[in-house]
Amino acid sequence: MIVQKYEEMLQGKSVIRTLSEKATKIGEEIGYENVFDFSLGNPSVPAPAEFTKAMQDLLTNEDPVALHGYSPTLGIPWVKKAIADSLNRRFDMNYEAEHIFPTSGAAGAISHALRLVTEPGDEVITFAPFFPEYIPYVNLTGAQLKVVQSREDFQIDFEALEEAFTEKTMALLVNTPNNPTGVVYSEETLQTLAKFLEDKQNKYGHSIFLISDEPYREIVYGGQPIHFVAKYYANTLTCYSFSKSLSLPGERIGYLAVAPTCEKAKTLVQMCGQISRGIGHNCPSSIMQMAVAKVIDLTSDLSVYERNANLIYETMRDVGLTCQKPDGTFYIFPKAPIADATEFAMTALKYNLVLVPSDSFGRPGYVRLAYCVGEEKVARAMQAFREMMAKEKFC
Ligand code: PLP
Repeated sequence: MIVQKYEEMLQGKSVIRTLSEKATKIGEEIGYENVFDFSLGNPSVPAPAEFTKAMQDLLTNEDPVALHGYSPTLGIPWVKKAIADSLNRRFDMNYEAEHIFPTSGAAGAISHALRLVTEPGDEVITFAPFFPEYIPYVNLTGAQLKVVQSREDFQIDFEALEEAFTEKTMALLVNTPNNPTGVVYSEETLQTLAKFLEDKQNKYGHSIFLISDEPYREIVYGGQPIHFVAKYYANTLTCYSFSKSLSLPGERIGYLAVAPTCEKAKTLVQMCGQISRGIGHNCPSSIMQMAVAKVIDLTSDLSVYERNANLIYETMRDVGLTCQKPDGTFYIFPKAPIADATEFAMTALKYNLVLVPSDSFGRPGYVRLAYCVGEEKVARAMQAFREMMAKEKFC
């Protein structure tokens, strides 16, 4: 027997991946430097030199058996301690090594978090627009993803949340700074959310978990402080990734941090070891665990993303598109000038602009630009964008 649900998923292949493949095809014809590919969230800046040096040092000096061997089921103890210490230093928290579980990226962390706190049939709420991979992450656990629209400014609509919330809602999956909008939740939003969830826990008499997906935590603009989500709500499971902050998406490394204030916090981390056995995602790369721990407080040079954000936002405003100014990430989410965002994205392709229509993010009528692209190319892309808007009479 072949399992149908996976075969059916082939029909819903990622629009982002499809467009990225299209961009590669156009690139083969006209030269990749002439394709303005804003489809994929692959960082455009290198990992910091300190990371490369840490890798070299490990390869030269570390015992190769330890370096290439299986890590302990719950992760390498000194790595977990380095992560906990960093969170405590930066966000005034009280993590211990036993609250940290290294994973294969944020995807791995979310997959574990969901399995910790939901049973098949339970509900997980997320806010649209949202990262489309949340659909398989949640659906394959047997839980049900419920989507609540956010406000026009992409902050949480608490009335809509109240309406959607039921006794079966066991977790909220939130993402700030946000893919695809670039919006960061305000401190007020986080405080109101915490109060909302505390009231619901009291009402229903069981724990409700906040799964905070934070791969873009360090990519915030204008020198704003980072509001660390777990500071606001006790039952927070933080899902982090080094994919974006250290430009290491291919290395598949991140962690789940269970807030010390969570119900049964250390037991939850131990349970992750059992979940890993079941989903075959145990022991992320030992060398990567060690290398990121050596540069735990560093990031790549992320400044290009803010410069790109400013240039693209100005262009969107000049051509008359409704657009929220990004607070961080490397995404921007303007409203399409026509109702059908897919038609708009197809028109943009004629100008070698690869934009992702927003339907798969759960909020039709917009396009997403992933501007993790070189600055010079973004400047040329914005000229092409202006040309398209004028020639196609969109403005
Ligand atoms: N969550 C969001 C919002 C993302 O944008 C991504 C990747 O783009 C992920 C999770 C998955 O991250 P990782 O590559 O670390 O698994």
